[in-house]
Amino acid sequence: FDKLKEGLTKTRQGFVEKVSGVLTFNKSIDEDLFEELEETLIQADVGVNTSLKLVGALRARVKERKLKEASQLKDVLKEEIGRILNGDNQTLQMEKGKINVIMVVGVNGAGKTTTIGKLAYRLKKEHLKVLIAAGDTFRAAAIDQLVVWGERVGVEVIRHQEGSDPGAVAFDACKAVSSRREDVLIVDTAGRLQNKTNLMEELRKVGKIIRRELPDANLEVLLVLDATTGQNAISQARIFGEVVDVTGICLTKLDGTAKGGVIIGIKDELKIPVKLIGIGEGLEDLKDFAAEDFVNALFM
Ligand code: GDP
Repeated sequence: FDKLKEGLTKTRQGFVEKVSGVLTFNKSIDEDLFEELEETLIQADVGVNTSLKLVGALRARVKERKLKEASQLKDVLKEEIGRILNGDNQTLQMEKGKINVIMVVGVNGAGKTTTIGKLAYRLKKEHLKVLIAAGDTFRAAAIDQLVVWGERVGVEVIRHQEGSDPGAVAFDACKAVSSRREDVLIVDTAGRLQNKTNLMEELRKVGKIIRRELPDANLEVLLVLDATTGQNAISQARIFGEVVDVTGICLTKLDGTAKGGVIIGIKDELKIPVKLIGIGEGLEDLKDFAAEDFVNALFM
């Protein structure tokens, strides 16, 4: 929890402290206050719709509870944010006795490689046998980086040459994981959004190969989003969601940004569970997303 709290320092400063500045002790609750709060939430990357919704809920609570003074609203806001974040709390679950495939998608730079390294480390610590497929064959650096992570955590990386067919890498990895009876296959994918049509075709194909080769596998499609990009993360999620059935989100770089409020908009607008959060570059800096801890760390 302390690590989470530390990771959220910037968001706490950029979000909660600003909100607290609006909701000060001697202010009365009036239209101006609601407007100021709405603006502050939007600026904190909560997203327009979600900010409006939150302020709407606050208005209702003020009426219900006959609140008179701005500082009373802070707890109510915490409660309402908790309600949104709690929604459908889900973590990344590996099924025992089955092959689990985690297909990792997201734009370049979002933190896919790092997340794969951290995930492999964590699953290995849970005594699962893990294999990684270097499916971003477009960038030689991506393959090399993944191999470095693999060596660091002691997990084999299935790789082909730069420029080869990512579908073929996925195919080989599926064969390997089933013949060796391993527990988890983590598949990296390309993320060059500049060439959207090709990329989407490629992701679709990789997904199809996994489902065909491992029809009984428990398939997770994990979308990695960079919290520092704020509202852009939400539009990226929409683009990827059109091509693959995203089953969970990993929101990275929460430690490096004041834009952590974006997680509220993501939960509210996308209806895809945020399962993991990245709060640093180290092996241990990948956490299950737990709404209650998150809100408590934020409002500390
Ligand atoms: P990819 O292109 O999506 O594979 O992105 P990378 O995994 O290479 O990550 C891009 C950069 O973000 C690297 O410098 C990572 O160290 C950094 N990064 C990834 N996740 C986190 C995180 O949770 N916190 C911080 N501070 N940096 C991160």
